[in-house]
Amino acid sequence: QLNETSDSMDENTMSTQDGHTLPVLKKILDLSSKAQNLKKQHVALSEQVKLAFESFPGLDFLKSVQLIGDEYEILKRKYLEVSLERRRLNNEVIELKGNIRVFCRCRPLNENEIANGSAVSVVNFESNSEELQVVCSDSSKKQFKFDHVFKPEDNQEAVFAQTKPIVASVLDGHNVCIFAYGQTGTGKTFTMEGTPEHRGVNYRTLEELFRVSEERQGTIKYELLVSMLEVYNEKIKDLLAGNSSEATKKLEVKQAADGTQEVPGLVETHVYGADGVWEILKSGNRVRSVGSTSANELSSRSHCLVRVTVMGENLINGQRTKSHLWLVDLAGSERVGKTEAEGERLKESQFINKSLSSLGDVIAALASKSAHIPYRNSKLTHILQSSLGGDCKTLMFVQISPSSVDLTETLCSLNFATRVRGIESGPARKQ
Ligand code: ADP
Ligand code: MG
Repeated sequence: QLNETSDSMDENTMSTQDGHTLPVLKKILDLSSKAQNLKKQHVALSEQVKLAFESFPGLDFLKSVQLIGDEYEILKRKYLEVSLERRRLNNEVIELKGNIRVFCRCRPLNENEIANGSAVSVVNFESNSEELQVVCSDSSKKQFKFDHVFKPEDNQEAVFAQTKPIVASVLDGHNVCIFAYGQTGTGKTFTMEGTPEHRGVNYRTLEELFRVSEERQGTIKYELLVSMLEVYNEKIKDLLAGNSSEATKKLEVKQAADGTQEVPGLVETHVYGADGVWEILKSGNRVRSVGSTSANELSSRSHCLVRVTVMGENLINGQRTKSHLWLVDLAGSERVGKTEAEGERLKESQFINKSLSSLGDVIAALASKSAHIPYRNSKLTHILQSSLGGDCKTLMFVQISPSSVDLTETLCSLNFATRVRGIESGPARKQ
């Protein structure tokens, strides 16, 4: 049975018809008709096989079946090659929109905020899913624009629907980084990890990777490996090393022979299904909280990085690819008040500020196509160096709270995200 899943044109393709994409679209159409032709030929061959079975007895019959069988195999390969090429071109069309996306997600007001009544929502949404407005304390309004804005009522499915096309490109050999940025309590962990009932981007991503790799198993053989690490005070900790001697080993970023940045010694675990990954990530999280009095406390002050390594082997042309997908739950972006910041807490907050602003600098430099990208300014950007820039894809979720109590931090986060995106936000439009 030939694979028919890629016969309909991608929605993204249709929505990007402009001068740049037309030649690519033409090629895709051409490939579509080629695929259709091949399919017709395949149907005709199947008919012949049927006829052969019915009409030729003995040796002649076997010979003709053999010949038809060979031709069938060749056709099948050709068809799959054409399908893959079309998929690659589809991705190219998506890429023309740029490799850096910023999504904003606003959590709902929580029970406490509703109960105590003092908190009102200061975030207004537009119907276009790209803009939002923040009502400032002097009643002025500030407008922000992103690649997508998720409202408090948008669920995990809605978020993943927008994330899926970016994730899928890791199977075509692209490195991908997805970050959740924002003040503690705005839903970074909810978006990335989620809860058992409302699973987040991490789980859905792996599920999607397994689904597509199964769909392609006749053409490409994929192997998936998962690593998990934490960056706290500019130190790297392996979260999958367990209690072994590996766990206490100091990890550093090193340049590999091929010029890419690696973390030698990092544990990589083979994974065969999304549920296995869920268990592995849970065990990693348990390690993460060891040594802190409150799990939530430490998790808000360290960066948690999940790395999925995808190894692909093209069974038609023997080509091998290796790519990384990084799923990053960043440390809380809130500024620590001068009075509470002393000793250890002050050091932590300085490290967090430095790494988050370095990350902002790197993405902003990439978005503006700057010649120098300052990867070396923090452990976080150094680890991710080979997966940020070039033809790598970057997605940042800026998480915000709707509450008036969090207004200052919300504006900080939205300004950060706007700078990262390289597109200035203007004053609010007159209604
Ligand atoms: P962070 O990781 O940024 O500190 P959390 O992900 O822990 O924030 O979210 C704080 C709380 O708000 C959690 O109880 C979480 O379940 C809840 N929450 C966050 N975002 C949403 C959302 N979009 N819908 C429902 N609950 C949410
Ligand atoms: Mg969190």
